[in-house]
Amino acid sequence: MAGNPRFARHVALPAVGPAGQAALGRASAAIVGVGGLGCPAALYLANSGLGKLVLNDFDRVDESNLPRQILFRDADVGSPKVLAAAARLKQTAPQTTIEPVHARLSAARLLEVVAAVDVVLDCTDNFQSRLATNSACVATNTPLVSGAAIRMEGQLVTFAAPAHGPCYQCVYRDEDELLGDCEGNGVLAPIPGVIGALMATETIKLITSPQPNPAKLILWDGANNDWRSLNVKRDEQCPACSGNG
Ligand SMILES: [Zn+2]
Repeated sequence: MAGNPRFARHVALPAVGPAGQAALGRASAAIVGVGGLGCPAALYLANSGLGKLVLNDFDRVDESNLPRQILFRDADVGSPKVLAAAARLKQTAPQTTIEPVHARLSAARLLEVVAAVDVVLDCTDNFQSRLATNSACVATNTPLVSGAAIRMEGQLVTFAAPAHGPCYQCVYRDEDELLGDCEGNGVLAPIPGVIGALMATETIKLITSPQPNPAKLILWDGANNDWRSLNVKRDEQCPACSGNG
């Protein structure tokens, strides 16, 4: 994999190199929610030579998805998102195994999916799914990359070892802290594209770098081109991770 000319620009990077590219080829990730965030994240991860990508979504492609859910074409409207995405990814990333999961997962099944991969990307747009994904990542100590995008705003935070904190619930306690959903509030198409690309970058770093960055919440206000970052610490009262060592 590392000798493949396809990945020459990665191999040339000191931060990746032949060893990092080979690690990517052996690694797996699960994307929960194949929408505005999940599509660009999946495209960059598969094109970057990730070994295996599990795609989970219960939804079908709607015409209103097309401006930002960049894996889908007009002809995909009505098809299950994960199947349309898998077909599209095979065109540019034949080396990556794509495992589509077209279902709304029970907690038990989600735990199985999360336990079987190296990194999880939370690309959903509702709080209950986010809590369920975090619980599974805490239970299995699977690194979690979480993103959100709405209107002209985006957020990003990575939890390298959620069992030991901080985890998603150390940062977000109730729905009000989230950005809301795109259906009611609208979203400018490139905003989730930026956050999805950052999520893919974070995932590649988790796989190729032995030392993860400390957890940092990135807040992007696209209207004013204002980026802020806040250090995130474990909440000793966190209902998800505080019971762990
Ligand atoms: Zn926590």
